[in-house]
Amino acid sequence: MAQEKKKETNMKRRWGMAIDLDKCTGCGQCQVACSQENNMPLFEDDSEILKRVVFLDVMKVTNDRDKDAQYPNVKTAFIPKMCQQCGGNDPDHPKPPCVSVCPVVATDVGDDGVVSQVWSRCIGCRYCQASCPYEARQFNWWKPEHEGSFKESLNPEVSVASRGTIVKCTFCSHIWKRERDKMLAKGVKDINAVLYTPSCVAGCPTGAMVFGDLNDPASEVSKLSKDKRAFRLVHTVDNWDEAKKAHLKKNYPNPKVYYLSSQEWLRKMAAF
Ligand code: SF4
Ligand code: SF4
Repeated sequence: MAQEKKKETNMKRRWGMAIDLDKCTGCGQCQVACSQENNMPLFEDDSEILKRVVFLDVMKVTNDRDKDAQYPNVKTAFIPKMCQQCGGNDPDHPKPPCVSVCPVVATDVGDDGVVSQVWSRCIGCRYCQASCPYEARQFNWWKPEHEGSFKESLNPEVSVASRGTIVKCTFCSHIWKRERDKMLAKGVKDINAVLYTPSCVAGCPTGAMVFGDLNDPASEVSKLSKDKRAFRLVHTVDNWDEAKKAHLKKNYPNPKVYYLSSQEWLRKMAAF
């Protein structure tokens, strides 16, 4: 029994997310919550599209390439897409492609599986951006400008990125660190007792996003990852070519974000 308890306590976290596309309405609240939390400027519309840097994009997809998708059979879905926190597919080098190519270790994978990004260390070579199969990394071509009341409400826990650096989702790892420090201050030393929720998950009004420990078989995210509707995202949702999908599968980066959908056309298009 004591041994079992020890094993449980030493179990490493493997943070992951499950996003139920049947529940996602495409409202974009997750995106707004993410930008606000991570000090990325918000814009009223897309007129400044080249200045718009987001960690999380809500993609609208339809079945319009399906030969049967004539009116009234056209269907639509929304896919919130952020860094998929890849694990890499080579057991000898368990690193995502972005981490393998960074020459200055500005990005790394932690023992909880979260892929970090340190803006201030990044030299802006953009190798990682080129290597990311999910186009999850964004480059700051301009210095992020925060206007109006946003300037007064910047999050002190996240440094403001500078021009010429790469940014991306880190599952709000600063929230994890804050919650961990709170527990340590209370004298709780068991790191596995710490739980946290990234901002996008907290902001979703329909409960479509679930976050937790994939290593814990009792966690909701772990159960959802094994749901019969669950899949992980193909590198590009534009890809309908089965031969190309098979080739990409060989280099599958093993993401920790799971999607769920009961819609066959969507799974055919977006799932591995
Ligand atoms: S989605 Fe892209 S940025 Fe995120 S871990 Fe995978 S390769 Fe790296
Ligand atoms: S752009 Fe920055 S994070 Fe990306 S590989 Fe270059 S130095 Fe590393």
